[in-house]
Amino acid sequence: MSEEILVNVTPRETRVAVVENGMLQELHIERGWRRGVVGNLYKGRVQRVMPGMQAAFVDIGLERAAFLHVNDIHRPNAAVNSGDEQLEASPQPTQVRPITELLRDGQDIVVQVLKDPIGSKGARLTTQISIPSRYLVLLPQSRVVGVSARIEDDAERARLKALVSELSMPSAAGYIVRTNAEGQPSEALAEDIAYLSRVWALIEKGSRESRVGECVYEDLNLPLRAVRDLIRRDVEKVRVDSRETFEKLRTFAAQYMPGESEEDSGLAEKIEHYSGARPIFDLYGVEDEIQRALQKEVPLKSGGYLVIDQTEAMTTVDVNTGSFLGQRTLEETVFRTNLEAAQSVARQLRLRNLGGIIIIDFIDMHDVDHRRQVLRTLEKSLIKDHAKTTVYDFSPLGLVEMTRKRTVESLERQLSEACGTCSGRGTVKTAETVTYEIFREITRAVRQFEAERLLVIASPIVVNRITEEESAAVAELEEFLGKSIRFQADDQYLQEQYDVVLL
Ligand SMILES: [Zn+2]
Repeated sequence: MSEEILVNVTPRETRVAVVENGMLQELHIERGWRRGVVGNLYKGRVQRVMPGMQAAFVDIGLERAAFLHVNDIHRPNAAVNSGDEQLEASPQPTQVRPITELLRDGQDIVVQVLKDPIGSKGARLTTQISIPSRYLVLLPQSRVVGVSARIEDDAERARLKALVSELSMPSAAGYIVRTNAEGQPSEALAEDIAYLSRVWALIEKGSRESRVGECVYEDLNLPLRAVRDLIRRDVEKVRVDSRETFEKLRTFAAQYMPGESEEDSGLAEKIEHYSGARPIFDLYGVEDEIQRALQKEVPLKSGGYLVIDQTEAMTTVDVNTGSFLGQRTLEETVFRTNLEAAQSVARQLRLRNLGGIIIIDFIDMHDVDHRRQVLRTLEKSLIKDHAKTTVYDFSPLGLVEMTRKRTVESLERQLSEACGTCSGRGTVKTAETVTYEIFREITRAVRQFEAERLLVIASPIVVNRITEEESAAVAELEEFLGKSIRFQADDQYLQEQYDVVLL
């Protein structure tokens, strides 16, 4: 399997596409300038210790001095707390030691930014350092291996804990096993530990050799995270359409993911600057694929199609057969369509990044062996997915239930919003329904308010319908109410919108 990664950089948006055998499989998007300094490590110098506030001001090279509170100063055996990963923390007695015993003016320390500076407030710092990778968080000052509480299976928790403890053996660092480590093989965790050890070695070197105010570790933006997270050894190529990002990626890969031997130059050699005239996402039709990934219907080669619906509670996938081809029996056509659908569903879940409960309504099959093969195909196709998936057997009604864990919103939620015309319902009231609503509204308005004449403004479709098909009804209404009613079309009005105005 050949895997290629395309990185598209524009001033406000970075997109990373994972293409396997010429087919888009995954898309990652980062927008805006979220990039603050949170997560970065600096070599700082204590400017002033303030015993009254139990805090210190630290110069980290930013415009304003940063703030370090005594509670954020590392003490051996203190409880750790890191990012989104909830840990079962064993209660620790808080050692209250005055800040003057921990820090002194003019001292050089390595600090990590907890909060970006806002307005006149400087950044907030900690000396309890944590460095994330795909599946782990390195806690260089700790010795504990903790597993995210969101991994619920006891056997899996024990496996991960034992694995990470064993793999990290020579070093004395602590690790948090992140939620998405669930189900990952030991090689993946070993790669992460190797990566984090390299990061930490460079941080230590940096803290010795840097000047005060220099950044010794920078939290990764999307292109760098992509290189860190997505690139396994079998990636053939990474193409980047920005020279600046390309250079950053090369440097990063050379530093953190070097080759394992003289001949193996590592990932850096696989990263290329793409300077072609065609937009990079036109390669392999990636841009078109993204547009299609926002559609409900997915055509299948066999002539059938999928209908994918994302609701609040779950995602449903309906498998439909195309026209029956005389060559095969109906049973055979259904089986072939379901097999193709199983592969397509796996790809679409990953591409659209759908999570939570997913219910697949395959076309009815009576042959037990056919059902088994469709289920097997689905499971096999899901192996490449990095998100954890669990597939259950066919339910009595012939549905397949499955779950998929993910950490970011689906592609649709990232790129789309509910349609303003139908408010996301996917349907609008018919012109006929709106017509009768208007008639009721007229009656109500006339009873409530004094008026000689009425003006109704509505969409052209509704007004046309009223004047062409309902003129008799309008005449009757006018006579009944004793008022004249005028209809006016306005193309600013959506089909469901109208106003009844009393003149
Ligand atoms: Zn709509």
